[in-house]
Amino acid sequence: MLNKKIVLVQPSDLLGRDLFLTQPLSFEYVASALLLAGFKNVFFIDTRIEKISPEQLPVILRKRYGTVDFVCFTIFSQYFDSVKEYARQVKAAWPNIVTIGGGAHAILEPEQTLRLNRYLDFAFCGEAEESLPEFIKNFNFKERYKDIPNLVFRQDGRVIVNQRKFLNDLSECPNIAHELIRPDIYPAAGTGFIIAERKAANLIATRGCPFNCSYCGATQISGARIRVRPVAQIINEMKLIYDKYNIREFRFLDDNLTFDRGFILALVKAIDDEFHGQIKWACPNGVRIDRLDPETVMAMEKSGCYYFAVGVESGNERVLHLMKRGGLVRSKPYMKKQIEMIKQYTKIKVVAFFILGFPGATRQEDEESIKFANELALDGVSYHIFSPIPGSDEWTRLKKDNPDIDSSAFTTYRVTYAAAGRSIREIKFLKLKAFLSFYIRPRIIWETLKCIRTFGQVKLIVKRLMAM
Ligand code: SF4
Repeated sequence: MLNKKIVLVQPSDLLGRDLFLTQPLSFEYVASALLLAGFKNVFFIDTRIEKISPEQLPVILRKRYGTVDFVCFTIFSQYFDSVKEYARQVKAAWPNIVTIGGGAHAILEPEQTLRLNRYLDFAFCGEAEESLPEFIKNFNFKERYKDIPNLVFRQDGRVIVNQRKFLNDLSECPNIAHELIRPDIYPAAGTGFIIAERKAANLIATRGCPFNCSYCGATQISGARIRVRPVAQIINEMKLIYDKYNIREFRFLDDNLTFDRGFILALVKAIDDEFHGQIKWACPNGVRIDRLDPETVMAMEKSGCYYFAVGVESGNERVLHLMKRGGLVRSKPYMKKQIEMIKQYTKIKVVAFFILGFPGATRQEDEESIKFANELALDGVSYHIFSPIPGSDEWTRLKKDNPDIDSSAFTTYRVTYAAAGRSIREIKFLKLKAFLSFYIRPRIIWETLKCIRTFGQVKLIVKRLMAM
C-alpha cells in the first residue's frame, strides 16, 4: 500500500472566481501526514497555477505519473461544481482510480458531498491527517471503513458519515511538504492586498475557534478548542522557508492566532530571537480585537508583524448581537478604543472586516457600518456581502426552511443571496459606496499605493475590484 500513487489536486473555479490564489495549506499538512506515514509516491497539482482544465487533468496525470491510484480534491463550497467536473473527467478516463473529496465543504456538508457528486468515491468530514493514511492503508478491507474516523463512504446505496475526530496533538503534524507544494510559486497578495515583500509564505500556528459567530463556519471546521503547534516546530518551518526559498514574509492564516496570550507572546519572542527583525509577518485572516493589549501588540510589532485584520463586522450593536459576536466585540466604543490602542503603541496596519446585508440588518444599519468604518483609525476595510456559509448557524437556519438549498451557489466573492427585505442590487450598491467612501481619501490612497510591490498584486486587486 505504501507504494500507491496519490495525487492531491487543487481544483480551479470553472466560473473564474479564483480571486484569492492562496497556497493550499490544508493539502500541505495532509501531504506531510502521508509522507510521514511512509507513502512514497505523493504528488500535487495546482490547476489554478498551471491552468489545467478538467479535460486536461487525466491527460496530465497519465503523462506525469503513468498510473495513479488515488486522486484527492479539496472542496470549498464555491468549487463544488468544479470538483464534480474534474472528478468526472478523471473517472471517464480511468474508472478504477479512487477519487476522494476533503476540505471545508466536505467537512460541513459530508452527506451532500457524496450524494450530489457521484464521481467522488469517498470524502472526509474532518481533519484528514490521521484518517487519510489510515484509510489508504486499509483500502482493501471494506469491513474496517466504519471504524475510520472522518470517513464518508457509500454502502448499500446510502451515504455513511463516520464520527468526526479532531487531531489531539498538532505537534504530530509538522509541515514537511514544501518541496511538493512550493510556497514561492504563489503570489504574495494571495490573501488581502497589503504585502511587505515580493514573496510570502503562508502557515498556520493554531487551529480552532471557541466563539462560533453565527455567520462563520470556523468553529465547525476546526473545533471550538484552540490547539497550538509547538513554537519550536513553527520556528523550524519558518527557518526552512527563509533559507531554502529566500522568503522574508510570512502570513499566519489562523482563525485566532492571538487567542492564547501566553502562546502568542512565546511565539513572537521566538520569532524575534531567531530572525532579529529580518522578516515581516501578518495575519490577513484576522485576529480577535479583544485578545489584544499594549504588551502583545508591541511584542508582535517588534518581531516583525506589520499588518493584521480584525473583525468589526458592523457599526450597529443590534446587528452585532444578531451575529452572535461574543463578549466585548459587541460594543462599538470598545472596538474603537482597541483600534486606537493599537495605533497608539504600534505602526501595525489594521484592516477591518465588515459584513453588509446580514439577515435582519436594515439598509440604515448597514449605512451605520460605512460611517463607523470611516471614523475608525483603519488602514483598510474589507466589505463582504453576507453569504450563508455551510456549517454556520445562519446556514442551518436557512436550510431548515429550504431543505434542498444548494450550498455551492453561495460564495463570498459573488453576490447570490439577499436576506428578506433586501435586494442584491441594493446591497451591491452599498458595498461600492462603502468602498469608495473609505478609499477615496488622500491618506488612504497614499497608504494603499505604498503597499504595491508587484504587477501580479495589481492584477489580483483589479480582478477583485471587478468582481465587486
Ligand atoms: S468570525 Fe472569527 S471569532 Fe467568529 S467564529 Fe469565525 S473565526 Fe471565530
